[in-house]
Amino acid sequence: MPKFLITSAIPYVNGVKHLGNLVGSLLPADVHARFRRQLGDEVLFICGTDEHGTPTELAAAAADLPIRQFCDREHARQADIYRRFGLSFDYFGRSSSPENHGLTQHFYHRLDAGGLIEERDVQQVWSPRDQRFLPDRYVLGTCPHCGSPDARGDQCEGCGRLLDPPDLIQPRSAISGQTSLELRWSRHLFLRQSQLIERLRAWLETRHGWPPFVASLARSWLTSELCDRCITRDLTWGVPVPRSGFEGKVFYVWFDAPIAYIAATQAWAACDPTRRRWQDWWCESENTRYIQFLGKDNVPFHAVSFPATLLGSDERWKTVDVIKGFHWLSYAGGKFSTSRKRGVFTDAALEELPADLWRWWLIANAPESSDTDFTVDRFVADVNKDLADVFGNLVNRILVFCRRTFDGRIPAGGQFGTDERALANEVTAKLASIRYQHEQLDFRRAAAETRALWVLANTFLQRAAPWSAGGDQAAVITRVTLNLVRLCAIAAHSIVPSLSGIVLSAFDDHAAIPHWPGHPIADNLDGYAGHAVKPIGRLVEKLSDWDVLRLKRRFGD
Ligand SMILES: [Zn+2]
Repeated sequence: MPKFLITSAIPYVNGVKHLGNLVGSLLPADVHARFRRQLGDEVLFICGTDEHGTPTELAAAAADLPIRQFCDREHARQADIYRRFGLSFDYFGRSSSPENHGLTQHFYHRLDAGGLIEERDVQQVWSPRDQRFLPDRYVLGTCPHCGSPDARGDQCEGCGRLLDPPDLIQPRSAISGQTSLELRWSRHLFLRQSQLIERLRAWLETRHGWPPFVASLARSWLTSELCDRCITRDLTWGVPVPRSGFEGKVFYVWFDAPIAYIAATQAWAACDPTRRRWQDWWCESENTRYIQFLGKDNVPFHAVSFPATLLGSDERWKTVDVIKGFHWLSYAGGKFSTSRKRGVFTDAALEELPADLWRWWLIANAPESSDTDFTVDRFVADVNKDLADVFGNLVNRILVFCRRTFDGRIPAGGQFGTDERALANEVTAKLASIRYQHEQLDFRRAAAETRALWVLANTFLQRAAPWSAGGDQAAVITRVTLNLVRLCAIAAHSIVPSLSGIVLSAFDDHAAIPHWPGHPIADNLDGYAGHAVKPIGRLVEKLSDWDVLRLKRRFGD
C-alpha cells in the first residue's frame, strides 16, 4: 500500500502571497492531498514558511521589528490565511526552526566528509552608499546570457538562468540604485555539484511522470555544465556555518529551504512521538511516493540542488518521485508582483469572497501547460456559470423539490429502471475519469470532468422532470437525483471542500473526508430511502455587476 508524501514549495515569509503563489504550488498540493485521503491513502502534507535571507532582513527593518519577531508575526499571518483557504497541511513549519538548523548543519557535515565542500575566495559586491555587502538579488544588472537589463544577481527572470552577482554586466544596487559598487573578497563554501553530475543524471533517468516542461528543464540543467554552487553568505540571519573561520556567516537560504521539508516532518513527529515517526517518510520509505508541487522558477532547486544535497550526503534519503511544476498566473496581462503589490493577494481575496470561489477558478484554470491570465471578468463569468448556474442550481432545485413534494425525506417507491441504469453507467464512467485526472495530477482536466458530472446530473434532472411525473416515477427520479447530488459533492470535495461540506451536511454527512464512492454506483443512486434531507440556503449566490465593479476597484484590474 503506497503512502503519499506531498510538499508544496515553502512560501517566503516577507509578505502575504498572491493568487499566483497559491495556484503555483500550495493549492494544487492541497487538492491532491485531499483527493488521496478520499481514496483512503495514507498522506503526509508538509509546508511551511521560508524565513532566511536578505529579503526578510530588509522587510523586518522596514517594519521596524527584530527579525525573529517579524518572522513570528508573518508566519502566523500566512498560516491563518492558508487555514481560511482550506489548505489541509498536516504540518506548517518554519525554515528557521531548531530542527532545520540541526539538519542543515548535518547535511553540511556529510557533504564535507564526502569531499564535496570546498573553500573559495569570492568577490562580493560591497555598496559604500548602503554600507553593506549586497545580497545577490539586490544587485541588478544586464544578464550575460540573454542581455535582459534587469537581471538579478541570483537569477535572471528573462532566461531563468542562475547567476552570481559578479556575472552581471554594469551592476547597480537595488536598494540605493548606486552604481559605484566595489568588489571585495570574502571566503565562502561551495558545494561541488560538478562532482555529482553523473549521479544526478542517473537519478533523473529513474524518475517518471513529470510534466514534459519540468523534465526538459531538469535535463537542461544537467546537460549544460553544472556549476559548483556557493552555499554560504555574509549575513547574520540564517543557519550558522559550523566551521572555523566562518563565524558570522550563514548558509545560503536556498541551501536550507528545501531541507525544511524534512525538518518540518521532524517537528510534526515531535508533536506525537508515540505514534509518528518522521523516518517512516524520509528514511525507511520504500512504499512512499513523494510528490513536490512548485512553480517553474523553483525547478532547478528541486530537480538539481536539493537532490545534490540528498545524494551527496551518501545517506539513504527519500528523493522526489514526481515534480509537478506550474507556469505563471498572470494578472490582467501583466505580472503578479509581491514587491510591487500588483494583483490579487490572498488576504484581500478572502475579504471579498469565500475561499471556494477562488479555489474553483484557480484549479479549473491552473497554469499547467502554459501561463494563464487572471481577469475579474473571466473569474466572475466562470464562477457564475460553473458554481452558481450548474452546481448551485442543481443542488438547490432538487432539495427544494424534495422538501415541497416529499416532506424533506428521500422518497422510497418507484423502480430503478432503464433510464436510471443508463445514468448509473454514465456516472460510473465520469467518476473513473475524474479519478484518473487527479491521479495524473492533471488539475484542469480534473476540474473539467467534475463540472461534466454536474452537467450530467442537471441534464438528467431536466429530462426526467420529476415535477411533471406521477407519484412513483417522481419518487425514483428524486431519490436518484438526490443521491447523484451527493456524489457530485463528494467528487468536488478536493477542489471546493466547503461547498462540498455544505451539500453533504444536507444529508447529515459531516465526515471531514468524504470517501470516494465505491462500486456499484447504481446502489449508491438507489439508496438512502427514508433518510431526511435538511434545508440549506442558496449554495452559491451569483455575482452581480456590482460585484464586478467592486472587485475591479479593489484589485485595480
Ligand atoms: Zn538572462
